[in-house]
Amino acid sequence: MTLSFDLTAEGARDALRAGAVPEKPSLIGLTRAELGEALVASGIVPERQAKMRAQQLWHWMYVRGVSDFSGMFNISKDLRAELDKHFTVARPQIVEEQISADGTRKWLFRFPPRGAGRPVEIETVYIPEEGRGTLCISSQVGCTLTCSFCHTGTQKLVRNLTAEEILAQLLTARDRLGDFPDRDTPDGAIVPAEGRKVSNIVMMGMGEPLYNFEAVKKALLIASDGDGLSLSKRRITLSTSGVVPEIFRTGEEIGVMLAISLHATNDDLRDLLVPINKKYPLKELIAACRAYPGLSNAKRITFEYVMLKDVNDSIDDAKGLIKLLKGIPAKINLIPFNPWPGTNYQCSDWETIEKFADYINNAGYASPIRTPRGRDILAACGQLKSDSERMRKVDRLALEAMMIAGHGEA
Ligand code: SAH
Ligand code: SF4
Repeated sequence: MTLSFDLTAEGARDALRAGAVPEKPSLIGLTRAELGEALVASGIVPERQAKMRAQQLWHWMYVRGVSDFSGMFNISKDLRAELDKHFTVARPQIVEEQISADGTRKWLFRFPPRGAGRPVEIETVYIPEEGRGTLCISSQVGCTLTCSFCHTGTQKLVRNLTAEEILAQLLTARDRLGDFPDRDTPDGAIVPAEGRKVSNIVMMGMGEPLYNFEAVKKALLIASDGDGLSLSKRRITLSTSGVVPEIFRTGEEIGVMLAISLHATNDDLRDLLVPINKKYPLKELIAACRAYPGLSNAKRITFEYVMLKDVNDSIDDAKGLIKLLKGIPAKINLIPFNPWPGTNYQCSDWETIEKFADYINNAGYASPIRTPRGRDILAACGQLKSDSERMRKVDRLALEAMMIAGHGEA
């Protein structure tokens, strides 16, 4: 069973409303200090109250998940009305929500153009599993990089997402799953039996997060703030294709778990698969991994390795992989390649993947094959509308496959 809700009619009304009034700045995605400054600059909060008001709003936005000032009961009615005149804490428009039989959910969000010419659309995927629920978040619309097996790489970068838009993916997913205090989870939803519905996040959606460093950093620091969304940094994984100069900063300034899209163990092949390798070759990438702040057996780096038939899937490749990662506290994630229309690559045979995995298991790395999820909503995504510069249907298919197959293990 696949459920799909087209929310465009409601969205169109929102868009009309939004068209009538200039867009109000959102308070989501600001640091506490910026939040206080925004309140003071608007003239509705005196300087001496800025810190206290910022703290109040922080609680409502990130602990209670309130998306309308009217729900902020310990703030006076007059101040709530003033806040509403100047700012917003509203959620973005959900164009579509799809629910797979296995509980995987996928949202298509629409954000304002913000310099891109037209509104932009991105997808966020929720993957419930025994004991945890992982949200796969996008950081850019499109990608500047051109990994040859990835269809997102064929779509030009439209723009970076803002910190607000990155967080909005998490807040809205939690809304839809009833994952805030005093909210009900929708009937029949598949979520972890206990604890938080979204317990983990992975920056493994569209885009290269380290090419949007500042916004990603801001959003992840808010997501992990102990007085707010409170996700443990060990349950947040950022995946990069290998933007070496930003890797140390990721550990130092954000402090989340790192995943590397490795996919090849020698420069000649990696140059072809992940062209950023020409700029930052394996030697530099591996050195940056070894120097990753906080690295230990309890805090390992995940190395993602897409299984491409007759390209990188031989036992010699497996040997190369073990040799390359020697001495680095590492997890290995083998991702069966998700084919897309027009690609020249094929997924390795299952037997080959198992042999490769066995070799890696024998070398001391536990169960590394990632099982694809939510296949049925991939099939159903032909229903998605495509009428702007945003992704064509084939691009979206490949992206969804990538997000669902590549989600992390933290
Ligand atoms: N841009 C970042 C984040 C994307 S994460 C990065 O490259 O790390 C998604 C993971 O899925 C990456 O490891 C990516 O290389 C991989 N991937 C991309 N296209 C894929 C495909 N068609 N099949 C399987 N995995 C794919
Ligand atoms: Fe961009 Fe990652 Fe796809 Fe490479 S794999 S093109 S970095 S999204």
